[in-house]
Amino acid sequence: MKRFYLKTMGCQMNDHDSEVISGILLSLGYTATEKVDQADLILYNTCCVRENPERKVYGHIAAFRRLKERNPELLIGICGCMPQQKQELQQMLKRLPHVDLIFGTHNIHRLPELLERAASGERIVEVWDEGQFEEGQDFRDDLPVQRSDGFKAFVNIIYGCTNFCTYCIVPYTRGKEHSRTPDKIKEDVLGLVADGYKEVSLLGQNVNAYGKDLSDGTSFSEHLTSLNDIDGLTRIRFTTSHPRDMGVDLIGCLAELDKVCEHLHLPVQAGSTNLLKRMNRGYTREYYLALVDQIRRAVPNISLTTDLIVGFPGETEQDFRDTLSLVREVGFDSAFTFIYSPREGTPAAKMSNQIPEELKKERIYELIELQNAISDAHMRRLVGTTQELLIEGRSKGGLVGRTRTNRQVYLEGSPELMGSLVLAEITEASTWSLQGRIV
Ligand code: SAM
Ligand code: SF4
Repeated sequence: MKRFYLKTMGCQMNDHDSEVISGILLSLGYTATEKVDQADLILYNTCCVRENPERKVYGHIAAFRRLKERNPELLIGICGCMPQQKQELQQMLKRLPHVDLIFGTHNIHRLPELLERAASGERIVEVWDEGQFEEGQDFRDDLPVQRSDGFKAFVNIIYGCTNFCTYCIVPYTRGKEHSRTPDKIKEDVLGLVADGYKEVSLLGQNVNAYGKDLSDGTSFSEHLTSLNDIDGLTRIRFTTSHPRDMGVDLIGCLAELDKVCEHLHLPVQAGSTNLLKRMNRGYTREYYLALVDQIRRAVPNISLTTDLIVGFPGETEQDFRDTLSLVREVGFDSAFTFIYSPREGTPAAKMSNQIPEELKKERIYELIELQNAISDAHMRRLVGTTQELLIEGRSKGGLVGRTRTNRQVYLEGSPELMGSLVLAEITEASTWSLQGRIV
């Protein structure tokens, strides 16, 4: 029996791609292992959004050379977003000569053949620029999927991104926007519900763009409305939403569709209109604040989360203060904060006024401190409230549930409750977690 060790980096798209890769490997007779030194296949599903995680990949894979010397049959592979960049691919080929197999984000379905050829000694490099699609079709359709959770499932609805934010590499690695057909998505969700799944998370770099490339013109909100009617499905989430494309119809879905959860990840990136313009985000500070206001009026208990970048080229002290003041004004429930990382091939990497690393670090510490205080206050306000939880796991003899607003709650209860909805009173709170009691 052959064993595979699969390491996944990056966003939920990569997490889901890894579920497909695992499904394929299990169907080929492999079993999964957590121990890299026991694996017959080591595969790294990589991310290239920032430089640091990329550097780590080189370090880790270089260290596997020793394992390969001990076991020449061992196959080492790299897939995901890093090989999609031509220069990075050349680097890998040069710096990691012991890697047997490199494939891109559009070649996952070809894994069985690629593995067979790699096992017979051929060095495999297969990276397509774009998926080979008919309208609405997905090359991943009908591939086996090994889902990492028993009650919640990811479902891709749109691939790629054509927004070209000036700092971001994704449009170059994931290709142009490509929606799956509503029928195919609904078929997946019905299949998941039949298998006992309670919650689906609809995935895309910009889910609000869903359907724009389909000739039948189905919009994301129409699609959500149709999924909301599925019996047995209890919760629907979606991510990521682009503020520019967040229309009244989608806000209406959040307010009116009972299964659509009250959580919205709405990356703002920066609080200064000047920076937003140079990032090519397509909205101003005032637009974003007005949008948040509109969303909160429609869905008063909504949890809002965001992504923020500090140290974008030319970010002045005032620009940074504008980001801090926007964070205070919105009061996000939580935020992913990133230090700007120049990505070769993107317009921002060529901008002349790059910010020194030390200053970037100072700024991110200040931002994180502010956001942590805001997150903490949100969590403490929940003490004494009653929340609907989906029980999704076990921890230290107890249960872990999740609120509709996407917060984890630890509580006591019977394991038989796994996968069910319960009502719980929140009894304690800290910045990162909640304790509760079933009522
Ligand atoms: N499509 C989503 C959106 O636009 O909100 C996010 C996709 S991206 C993989 C996730 C986050 O990474 C972005 O929202 C941004 O904050 C961050 N990011 C992207 N490129 C970056 C870069 N060059 N340096 C630092 N952070 C970056
Ligand atoms: Fe990157 Fe912007 Fe597309 Fe998000 S919307 S993936 S940040 S280019």
